Amino acid sequence: MCGIAGVWNVDEAYNVIHDVLLTLQHRGQQSAGVVVNGFKSVKGEGLVENVLTPERYLPGNKGIGHVRYSTYGSLDEIQPLTAHTLKGRISVAHNGNIIDADEKRKFIMGSGGIFATTLDTEIIIHYFSIAPYTNPRESLQWAFSRIKAAYSVVVLHDTFLAAARDSFGIRPLFYGKFQSGYIVASEDVALRVIGCEDIVEIEPGTIVFFTDRTPPEVVRFAKRNDRFCSFEFVYFARPDSNFYGVNVHEVRKALGMKLYEEHKLGADVVVPVLDSGFSGALGYSQASGIPIEYGLIRNHYVGRSFIMPKNRQDIVRKKLSALSAVLEGKEVILIDDSIVRGTTMKLIVEMVKEAGVKKVYVGIHSPPVIGPCNYGIDTSRRSELIASENDIKSLQEYIGADRLVYLSVGAYREVFEKCGVHGVCMGCFDLNYPA
Ligand code: SF4
Repeated sequence: MCGIAGVWNVDEAYNVIHDVLLTLQHRGQQSAGVVVNGFKSVKGEGLVENVLTPERYLPGNKGIGHVRYSTYGSLDEIQPLTAHTLKGRISVAHNGNIIDADEKRKFIMGSGGIFATTLDTEIIIHYFSIAPYTNPRESLQWAFSRIKAAYSVVVLHDTFLAAARDSFGIRPLFYGKFQSGYIVASEDVALRVIGCEDIVEIEPGTIVFFTDRTPPEVVRFAKRNDRFCSFEFVYFARPDSNFYGVNVHEVRKALGMKLYEEHKLGADVVVPVLDSGFSGALGYSQASGIPIEYGLIRNHYVGRSFIMPKNRQDIVRKKLSALSAVLEGKEVILIDDSIVRGTTMKLIVEMVKEAGVKKVYVGIHSPPVIGPCNYGIDTSRRSELIASENDIKSLQEYIGADRLVYLSVGAYREVFEKCGVHGVCMGCFDLNYPA
């Protein structure tokens, strides 16, 4: 649950990274950081606007940046991380979790290595440093060939900017041309907003090296075996982003349509749980012919409850309010992208009932989340996932809905195939993890 950015040979890199991270703010709201020429950095807890201020401006034409979900409370743990090595200085910003981080840390520490943080990102720096090459590019290639998943990474070195994705391509990464240089970002929308041209989705299992030579050099370090995170499509990414050339909003809409086709559950009105439930609700409405209405109003100045670790219930009440003018006396179907812990949906159902609905149904346009994510999305430990230990009937009772329907795993997979997205990870839905 992070957003990353990289800039090579672009004026005012600090400002450009600021703007890219602002578009990626939904990927992490607890800390932001930037490193530019000379490995000077600005880091802090909070939103991009509060951390990367004009007063802290750093001159330079290259750099990397990061927005992060969780900081563990210390500035040392805020990315990018920078280190001195025999092969030059290196700075890394990482999206994802390295699945065998504990083993790798033990291996490095066993040979005398020391760690300054608890971040698995530091493993990338160590592997770069211990690689049996003097050439920094070969060292990076060696490091990535030995770290399986999950990462999308930007690396700033004295002599290059590199952007890499693991062989499964679990987390997204793009680059585009800008001025006489290049910009890298987690989602293509961030590049389009800036005005980049020739936007490219980085291939899983490759590193793209940006140097003063053009075009950028693409080096393969592992065989491609696509298992892109389907949850990026369902919930995490912005609806105006595209992966594999397929628009996120369109996929969510198709998932909503499929949900109706699968259950044919009628109501007087379809109400989206804003914001990420909107596209699916639109699909449900279009497939069923049931009108869609704003029955829940969102306050955009409160963070997304999924990625706010404290006071979740208070945040939901502050974030959403039920509109009785729309809901009173109606049979309502609420459409949302997923249920993780169940507490948010329980509250929403309560609020909708308080607004005087006749019946409240809940439709989820993905399958039940039954397993945790080991690849960088905070979908809790298994014991915290309400669907991992409850069947749909008990879940329905818990959230207080008159009916709860999910999309089946088969139907979910079918929608991706039909939309042209082949080879997705569905690990948290079917426990079939890629790595
Ligand atoms: Fe995405 Fe779920 Fe796979 Fe994690 S386990 S990468 S959240 S689909």
